[in-house]
Amino acid sequence: MYNGNGKTLVMQHGTLIDGSGRPATTNEAIVIEGNRIRSVGRLTEDVRLEDQDHVQVIDATEHWIMPGLIDGHCHLSFGFPQMAAVPSARGTTNPGFSALRAARNAQQVLRAGVTSLAVPGGTWFIDVALRDAITAGLYEGPRIACAGRFIITYGSIIDNEPSWVGTPEHTIGVLANNVDEMITEVRRQCKYGVDFIKLADSTWGDTQTIAPEELAAVVQEAHRRQARVTIHSRGAGSTRAAAEAGMDWILHADLATEVELEVVAEAGVRLMPTMTFLQHAIDVGHKFGRGPRELDMIKRNWDSSVRMLEQARALGITILCGTDSGNSPLMPYGELHAHEPAILVEYGGYTPMEAIVACTRNNAFVVGLENEVGVLEAGRLADLILLKRDPLADIRVLQGGQHLAMVIKDGRIVDLDGHEDTAGMLAFAPAAAQV
Ligand SMILES: [Zn+2]
Repeated sequence: MYNGNGKTLVMQHGTLIDGSGRPATTNEAIVIEGNRIRSVGRLTEDVRLEDQDHVQVIDATEHWIMPGLIDGHCHLSFGFPQMAAVPSARGTTNPGFSALRAARNAQQVLRAGVTSLAVPGGTWFIDVALRDAITAGLYEGPRIACAGRFIITYGSIIDNEPSWVGTPEHTIGVLANNVDEMITEVRRQCKYGVDFIKLADSTWGDTQTIAPEELAAVVQEAHRRQARVTIHSRGAGSTRAAAEAGMDWILHADLATEVELEVVAEAGVRLMPTMTFLQHAIDVGHKFGRGPRELDMIKRNWDSSVRMLEQARALGITILCGTDSGNSPLMPYGELHAHEPAILVEYGGYTPMEAIVACTRNNAFVVGLENEVGVLEAGRLADLILLKRDPLADIRVLQGGQHLAMVIKDGRIVDLDGHEDTAGMLAFAPAAAQV
């Protein structure tokens, strides 16, 4: 019984933005049975609204109905922020504690209207376990598609320890300095059930740390095992090489110029700029220990990303939305998941409708559910949000869950209150879902 009470949900009235890019329409009725949308549009005669034992009617008058948001780039298990009395190095060193906290992070994300999440990297295989626990109905949270630890070389992002320390399990990268080591790591991660592999080049893109033949080898091995591949690539050369290697999507691409973007367009590879992190770091980074040199670098990458975003749009590259929430103490959960569509509108020349499509229909690709989520139509999974204000009039309406009236995930109405006052306690309601 997906609705908890097992009733058919019928959402009537309001304005429907279905995620496909079609113009908004007046909503007649959305009928949800179990965890799927049965129909959108006219009510069929067999749905008897007066049958309150079996039907729950939701009146959406003066509200806007949309697919649940998808954040294509959010980390749940990095272990930020560090907490008093919890042993930590770069993030917590206790996998059990980290897993429990990741579960709570996922609940916060869901209550911001995010019903699916791609998690490009974390500690241990916590995100795999959390994904499976949510799917099994043990915990409430968004649908998750995840990677394991980033595959990196000496000099890549996350290679922060001296070489004699390497990359311990509680860090979010794993060193692999040649093709053989990379392939072994891909196989190990696939054995543990990751949905995709995350490679990572240099932190800000100034050097290229992974060779083209290494990228190609990882893509081949992962694809053979039905796992997809993405890469942290801020540099121009690494972005070009990633596109040529057949990466499924590329994260960042800050310093890519028109020359590299043409290669990306030619290869049909999607881009997820994830500019929310850069923007937020420029705004608040100084409060979180980011020094002036680093902030200058971030500003440089932001300026370059704005140009890149315009050029990518002109070249017809499909843009995906990610925020990097949870990547560091300055990126909290639940607040920034809809900032990226606002950046697309303000800096990329996108219409609000195009930005909504980017974080719903287009982003369904990154969670591997292209035909299941992201658009509200008959047969799809019932993940939707109800808003008190019009996101087409102001895309920022989507931010921080501030105008959310309701979140439905997998056909179940999410309890939006009642958890935040637990202040760090883990208060999970037992779910009755049978999947
Ligand atoms: Zn990230």
